[in-house]
Amino acid sequence: AESEDAALAARMQALLARVFGHARFRGPQAEIVAHVARGGDALVLMPTGGGKSLCYQLPALLREGVGVVISPLIALMEDQVAALRENGVAAAALHSGIAPEEAESIERATREGRVKLLYCAPERLQTRRFLELLDALAAQGAIALFAIDEAHCVWQWGHDFRPDYLHLAMLPARYPRVPRIALTATADAAAREEIAARLALHEARRFITSFDRPNLFYAAERKRGDGRAQLLAFLRRQPEGGGIVYCLSRGKTEKLARWLNERGIPALPYHAGLTHEVRERHQRRFLAEDGLVMTATIAFGMGIDKPDVRFVAHLDLPRSLEGYYQETGRAGRDGEPAQAHLLWSGEDAVWHRHMIETSDMLPEQKEMAHRRLDTLVDMVAGTGCRRQAILAYFGETVGPCGRCDRCLAPVRPWEATDAARKALSTVYRTGQRYGAAHLIDVLRGHATEAVVRRGHDRVSTYGLGVDLPVETWQAVFDELLLRGRLSIDFERHRALMLTPRARPLLRGEEPFFLALPRATPKGSARGATA
Ligand code: ADP
Repeated sequence: AESEDAALAARMQALLARVFGHARFRGPQAEIVAHVARGGDALVLMPTGGGKSLCYQLPALLREGVGVVISPLIALMEDQVAALRENGVAAAALHSGIAPEEAESIERATREGRVKLLYCAPERLQTRRFLELLDALAAQGAIALFAIDEAHCVWQWGHDFRPDYLHLAMLPARYPRVPRIALTATADAAAREEIAARLALHEARRFITSFDRPNLFYAAERKRGDGRAQLLAFLRRQPEGGGIVYCLSRGKTEKLARWLNERGIPALPYHAGLTHEVRERHQRRFLAEDGLVMTATIAFGMGIDKPDVRFVAHLDLPRSLEGYYQETGRAGRDGEPAQAHLLWSGEDAVWHRHMIETSDMLPEQKEMAHRRLDTLVDMVAGTGCRRQAILAYFGETVGPCGRCDRCLAPVRPWEATDAARKALSTVYRTGQRYGAAHLIDVLRGHATEAVVRRGHDRVSTYGLGVDLPVETWQAVFDELLLRGRLSIDFERHRALMLTPRARPLLRGEEPFFLALPRATPKGSARGATA
């Protein structure tokens, strides 16, 4: 067995160099390749850019027959096939974009053993025609392996859920002798178990790589206004290279691209509402040109292999920590320093909650979506190391990283319980009908025409907040919105309203902490009853 191991290792090394042009395996790649090449099942959890493709491509080359790769996206398949062919590997893809005659010729080539890696969409494994082809191959022992790429698509609560992935659970019963390898960059502990269960990968060996992206610098800042000025300042600090700015809406990506171009920063929009040609053209330019900014919705990214993306910025709060991690993971895949810069507002979080509540999701799906949002809110509102918070979500424990805004400029948790209660109480006493600007006028005892006309100079919290500057009150309101203690009535002049989660805070049963820069003077909301 030892000489067998040595022979396998030698063959692996030779193929790695000859076909892929790499000098050595990265991380757990060698172990995974050897395990699958010997016929074992594997569940591979590896961050984006970790080098997952090689983990199934190389064993397919080492084994008899064709490696069948299930992949959710045509663009992803096409990229992989093109790269493999360039390296001299007989690869092909079967998907809805392939003309019937071409599909037929690919099937024939596969039957005749002239295809080494065959990519296909999950739907294809439910067509009789394709299953008959696989059956014929399996009978001759001519299927090298099944690779299930982007395996999190089987996770029903995930945002990339594809019902067709559920049918892949039939593979081990129908093809018991063919090893399977499932790969994903997405995996909190719960998702991990569900993926293994749904794909019937009970015996599969698990390969879990650290999700840390040491070359990414994480930062998050509260938006002032629409955040554009802060974004511009951030972009101007990026000396070279292109990047992505994620926005929540299609319209916003287009307006932002125009606005950036007017300020001398070349930018292109990308979203699912653009025609195929425009998307294609913008994507090509982004890949080819240096220093281009893609203003995009989350439609942009999966399967984009541009190793030198220097930054990923978010002009709006994403939906979950998982999504945020995926999106920022597109920066710095070449291992060189890159920036992940998040701009957030409380209103973004309120908007997500509103979208969840008004969606047609089932109650438990809504519950899940709220929880997913809260994982991100906790990271953003937290006072500690960002990387620590992100990796904790993936079940990893690390020390403070020294490469995030919190580590570079530590904040002092400020107990803002009194300020928060005054803010909530002012919302309540003025009838839950006003925005933050007016409420801050009331709190700071600012007798504006509107305050006097509405009699708000007579509410009991009038002037109670004079000791704190407007900026601080804005931060308090924003954090209350972010953390779901306040909501916004989008139908009624965007008035601030209390939520059920505000109750414990109002009753004084719960403390409220804010992150303030350590340098700020010891101004406190306590004893403000002047
Ligand atoms: P993933 O699918 O995990 O996001 P890929 O398989 O696309 O990652 O690989 C990411 C990049 O890393 C690719 O450019 C690939 O060529 C490169 N890569 C993979 N394995 C190695 C290796 N052993 N040595 C050097 N580069 C590698």
